[in-house]
Amino acid sequence: MPEINTPLWVDLRSDTVTKPTDAMRQAMFNADVGDDVWGEDPTVRQLEHTLAGMAGMEAGLFMPSGTQSNLVALLTHCGRGDEYIVGQQAHTYKYEGGGAAALGGIQPQPLPMTDFGGLNLDEVEASIKPDDCHFARSRLLCLENTVHGKVLPLEYLLQARTLVDETELKLHLDGARVFNAAIALQCQLQDITRHFDTVSICLSKGLGAPVGSVLLGPAAFIEQAKRWRKVCGGGMRQSGSLAAAGLHALEHHVQRLADDHRRARQLAQRLVSAGYSLEMPQTNILFVRVDGLNREHLAQWLEQHRIKADCLGRDSIRLVTHLDIDDAGLERAAQAFETFMSEGQGT
Ligand SMILES: *Cc1c(COP(=O)(O)O)cnc(C)c1O
Repeated sequence: MPEINTPLWVDLRSDTVTKPTDAMRQAMFNADVGDDVWGEDPTVRQLEHTLAGMAGMEAGLFMPSGTQSNLVALLTHCGRGDEYIVGQQAHTYKYEGGGAAALGGIQPQPLPMTDFGGLNLDEVEASIKPDDCHFARSRLLCLENTVHGKVLPLEYLLQARTLVDETELKLHLDGARVFNAAIALQCQLQDITRHFDTVSICLSKGLGAPVGSVLLGPAAFIEQAKRWRKVCGGGMRQSGSLAAAGLHALEHHVQRLADDHRRARQLAQRLVSAGYSLEMPQTNILFVRVDGLNREHLAQWLEQHRIKADCLGRDSIRLVTHLDIDDAGLERAAQAFETFMSEGQGT
């Protein structure tokens, strides 16, 4: 079997698999650096400042991963014995190792997610605990956008903001792919982020940087978050080389997310025409239903055709378009699925 990363493969497992472009590597090579734990890395500062500006936030904090950025946000918003309200399928709750509980003594209050990926705000309100020694203190509502490739409507964000303003809750956004949401809505990043107290944004997904996320929020919050980042082991030294990749991505890889969305739609249309069952993607992620198909054969077929897909789910395969999937790669993927239906099925 060829190496997993040879260009022979079309890798649709995730937008995390992107590799830095030559231009990005050049920007990393040229970056001016300093010790960021001492606040002396000019490129990290520039990245934090630039992204904070784009999001209309006071300050930013560069971290190695989105998991750490969300964790630091939770640790800064909530203390031991506090709770945060979160979606049952949300990344922070389900895919981050229970970090808030394990490391922060923060109790999650998970709620079912609606079809569009939000939480029912009446249920959120009903789950807020009274100020009584029987209960954890409800501190924070955490939303995700995009969530499984879906975009939360701006109207919903406003409703969520209105709810938290009537309560003691703060509002955090796991915005790992929030640029995909802004591109899909054809709005500014700020039109989304303005509803939130704090936002975490990944540079290492569709934006194509090798490493890094930025937590954004009020200056005083980010000051406290800096302490928690150090506690979590996220204080990095000459990290300007990494921040340079993020800056390059913000300049060159945001508008092109529209290409990923277009390719995801094209792929979805081809698959629907070929007889697959799926919802039209809103951004760069599509889920192909496989409950009526021979999943193992399909997985083998894709592998034989050098297509990598996330076949882990029982009912669906996840396909993600990204920077390293061009029209030729998309064509190969579409054909592999089409031929599976027309000739491969069950063989
Ligand atoms: C990828 C992702 C994160 C953070 O993941 P890391 O791999 O730790 O950078 C957080 N939330 C969502 C929704 C994600 O997709």
